[in-house]
Amino acid sequence: MVMGEAMTKVVLSEQARQAIRADMLQRPHIEACGLLLGEITPAGDWLAEAALPLRNINNSAVRFEFDSLELLECDLTYGERIIGVYHSHPGGPPMPSRTDTGNMERLQDSPWVWLIASFYRQRGAAPGVASDGLSIAAYRHDPQSGLQIIPIFLTPAPPQDHHDAGPASPDHDPTKDP
Ligand SMILES: [Zn+2]
Repeated sequence: MVMGEAMTKVVLSEQARQAIRADMLQRPHIEACGLLLGEITPAGDWLAEAALPLRNINNSAVRFEFDSLELLECDLTYGERIIGVYHSHPGGPPMPSRTDTGNMERLQDSPWVWLIASFYRQRGAAPGVASDGLSIAAYRHDPQSGLQIIPIFLTPAPPQDHHDAGPASPDHDPTKDP
């Protein structure tokens, strides 16, 4: 496993991280899984703004598989906003299984990034980022370099008093500021 030569990265929003965490807590005995929504920058970075839980039709602690109809509906709804997938490892570290590696290789022509999340505790550093007991690591399979671990950066939670969250104030329109 080598670092990506282009040094692309995943920027994971706190909202997306919390959605993955909540999904894992909701179905702790099977692999939680879903889609990452956001954008891929021209430089190739994945900006994951939201995470969307999907059914795991295998109901398995060691495998996940999306429902094809649900995936199709998401594709129709979100299209290119889908930038990757996530799944959890209920009983192990956030490192790709042979199945994961095979799936990544099979889908290596897609621009998706693969996140694996885990609460598993082990000695030594887990790959990826860790906070409040949750470790998340990112991977993809590159046609030339093979399996790559992608660095992840976390963005802080958005401010609570975002300007469009409350009643509109007529004298504050950022689009009309000089
Ligand atoms: Zn896995």
